[in-house]
Amino acid sequence: MSGTATRPARLANVTLLVAQACNLRCGYCYADGGSYGAPAQRMAATTLKRALERLLPLAGPRLTLSFFGGEPLLNLPLLEAAVLLGRRLGETAGVEVRFALTTNGTLLEGRALEFVTRHVDFLAVSLDGEAAVTDRARRFRRGRGSVHARVCAGLERLRAAGVPFGLRATVTPESAPRLADSAGHLAGLGPVSLRLVPDFGATPWPEPALAALVAGFDTLHREALARALTGHVPLGGEALYPLLAHRVQGTVRERPCAAGEAVVAVAADGAVYPCDHFVGNAAFRMGCVHDGDFPGPEFARVQARLAANTVAARPACRACEASHLCGGECPAVAAAGGGGIAGADGAFCRFKRETTARLQALLDEVAPVGELPAPLCALVEG
Ligand code: SF4
Ligand code: SF4
Repeated sequence: MSGTATRPARLANVTLLVAQACNLRCGYCYADGGSYGAPAQRMAATTLKRALERLLPLAGPRLTLSFFGGEPLLNLPLLEAAVLLGRRLGETAGVEVRFALTTNGTLLEGRALEFVTRHVDFLAVSLDGEAAVTDRARRFRRGRGSVHARVCAGLERLRAAGVPFGLRATVTPESAPRLADSAGHLAGLGPVSLRLVPDFGATPWPEPALAALVAGFDTLHREALARALTGHVPLGGEALYPLLAHRVQGTVRERPCAAGEAVVAVAADGAVYPCDHFVGNAAFRMGCVHDGDFPGPEFARVQARLAANTVAARPACRACEASHLCGGECPAVAAAGGGGIAGADGAFCRFKRETTARLQALLDEVAPVGELPAPLCALVEG
């Protein structure tokens, strides 16, 4: 899409912040405890309807509605309404609508479990690692008890109900030294996918923690590559995909992500942002689904600004040897750091460059360029 595009040609994912409220209080929460710096609120049915009516016409042949928060299961009546309405409006618009949900995993029982079992196509549960790691960072807002134990009980119910789930862990400077152990613990819980995401947002990364992070990912990537070579999902090896896509298909990442283009987020009050990380950032507000002219000039302005944020246009990225696989740092994180969306944080860049170089060397050892084994090609061709 060019920098002058006025709207997404093929919207593929709409994140709905159905509850800007949460029953947890996590130390690293970029959403300020789930409410994004505003009073806690839940999306109303009128906002949901308006959002779907306004955004479905912008979708491609398939659209994923991603239920997000805060904790989305705190607004179960709206989730149930969203599934009915999404299916009905999708049929009318000729769009296949699928449903994703990201949850902190503490409410997976009763009616919420039934909803997830019946309606959610892609379920992501956040859990950081063993009890010592998880419970250090995550606490219940009210009351005591182990978040880890509660989430594991929920995962047990999911397994019993035959519901596939992915796990998503946030890695902090405190947890980085235990990264490999945490990943092993999480992989043992039976997820179909596993993402481990370093928190480069608010937290400074001291040198020993950063070194531990790079070493931990080196271990993960070795294990993930070994799994991939035997035809299994490379749990924890997400970085393999862009590298393999580059080798197999010549894919180059020109931008960090599809925020504002194929992806948008709708806040509980109907305001639209490029993704959930931008919620509350007035400079990136793309209008509101209740506006008569939505999607209007704000939508086009923000979209054009993000479309122009390519690695070729970012001074720090132009000479970087990892730029074809990196695409640049998350623009929302960069903007929150005060350096604008084109900023490149020192810790993030060092992590990205070192892990990319190590992963490339690792791949060269097992599969020289041009001789990729079939199971690795299948990961990007399937
Ligand atoms: S569960 Fe998510 S939204 Fe809730 S406090 Fe933790 S990080 Fe924030
Ligand atoms: S590692 Fe840093 S400098 Fe290199 S492309 Fe990514 S954001 Fe840009």
